[in-house]
Amino acid sequence: MKVLIIGAGISGLSVANLLSERKGISADIWESNKKPGGLIECDVVRGFLYHKVGGHVFNSKKTDVLNWFWGKFDKENEFVKVDRNAKILLQNKLVGYPLENHLYQLDRKLASQVVKDLISASKNDKVEKNFKEFLLNTFGRTLCDMYFFPYNEKIWQCNLEKVSLEWLEGKLPTPDLEKIIVDNIFKKKEDEMVHSTFFYPVKGGSQFIANRLSEGLNIEYGLTVDSIQIHPHGVIVNNEFYEKLIFTGDVRELNFIIEGLSESAYSAVKNVTSLLSHGTSNILCECDPTDLSWLYIPESFTRAHRIIYTGNFSKFNNTNSQRSSCTVEFSGKLTEDEMINELDKLPGNLVPLSSNHQKSSYVIHESKTKKSVETVKSELAKHNVLLLGRFAEWEYFNMDTAIASAMSLVENEF
Ligand SMILES: Cc1cc2nc3c(=O)[nH]c(=O)nc-3n(C[C@H](O)[C@H](O)[C@H](O)COP(=O)(O)OP(=O)(O)OC[C@H]3O[C@@H](n4cnc5c(N)ncnc54)[C@H](O)[C@@H]3O)c2cc1C
Repeated sequence: MKVLIIGAGISGLSVANLLSERKGISADIWESNKKPGGLIECDVVRGFLYHKVGGHVFNSKKTDVLNWFWGKFDKENEFVKVDRNAKILLQNKLVGYPLENHLYQLDRKLASQVVKDLISASKNDKVEKNFKEFLLNTFGRTLCDMYFFPYNEKIWQCNLEKVSLEWLEGKLPTPDLEKIIVDNIFKKKEDEMVHSTFFYPVKGGSQFIANRLSEGLNIEYGLTVDSIQIHPHGVIVNNEFYEKLIFTGDVRELNFIIEGLSESAYSAVKNVTSLLSHGTSNILCECDPTDLSWLYIPESFTRAHRIIYTGNFSKFNNTNSQRSSCTVEFSGKLTEDEMINELDKLPGNLVPLSSNHQKSSYVIHESKTKKSVETVKSELAKHNVLLLGRFAEWEYFNMDTAIASAMSLVENEF
């Protein structure tokens, strides 16, 4: 079977490998960039490893994903297992993450107010209609005002009442009052929590993962697909016929590049053009050594919302320097100068090295998002066009969930 995959991010690379291993199909992949990876792409800047988006680390609770993934790598020699040491910067103090487990680190007056609010929130049985109400009902007014509202408003750059609850399922912890109290009494540490450790490539960051997964595949780089013609038995792309197309790009762009769909498929494709996303900007910096892995910054003294200490993930991430490295992350589009202006407000004597803006990083779910994405998926499948990945399926995927989705696509569609 002739299959074309658009995009060599983790989704495209995974599905290509799985098709070959499980179905004996050798797909072609076309990728706009000059190298594989998509969001997990890394560069090296003056000896420092630079994650152009985020600071990608790997972990999963899914056994089938773990078995497949570790079949591709030498876990002992090519990866390091790192303890996650995340903190929140609040009123110039570092408080443990997640905040609700570290109330004993707050001053007494504040802690009493937090507990009072948690108790009254726990008595509230109102059904939450949006993300803001969910936060308020789960954590109470004081924790929301000091952390959950300002942090999430920085990230989402929108009124949290507009963020639907659909995307939350299984993605955010929903601790109840009893759990919060017990975790605080016993000072539950991060190392007892899920995702308290993660795996990280010894060399090359997440680019190493993309490079390995791309080995042996038929990938054309530097080729942006801007026209897809539907054919009764498949699709024609750049004058080549394929029986099936797997699209891992941004579903909103299909409206402008696809032709020959049925009326219902056209209207579904048109409908998703109004989906909302937002981007991130980040700046790689040299920094003083620290034992942190992540620092969350809810307060408004800076536009940055977190620092990812990628220099601590592997010793090979900082060659050529006694200093360490980190990326400072911002929501939305900031120029390099705007980011540099923020660095003096942050800890660690940060010296800028390189910056990037990623137009789309986070998908936003509104109330009708799920339904319209389901419709476009099923309409396009009738035309042999399958959607896969973070922006094609409009899901808040991590690498492991993107791989899981590739697995189910191969199982169900081939
Ligand atoms: C800030 C941030 C931090 C994150 N941290 C983590 C983490 O620590 N761990 C984790 O597991 N996950 C993390 N994630 C999630 C992870 O990045 C994604 O789940 C994953 O990379 C999505 O891969 P994808 O292949 O679906 O999409 P993408 O990576 O976006 O890949 C799509 C590819 O398709 C190509 N493409 C698109 N359109 C076309 C076209 N028309 N023609 C040719 N090529 C095209 C693009 O160039 C791109 O390479 C993070 C995400 C963000 C935004």
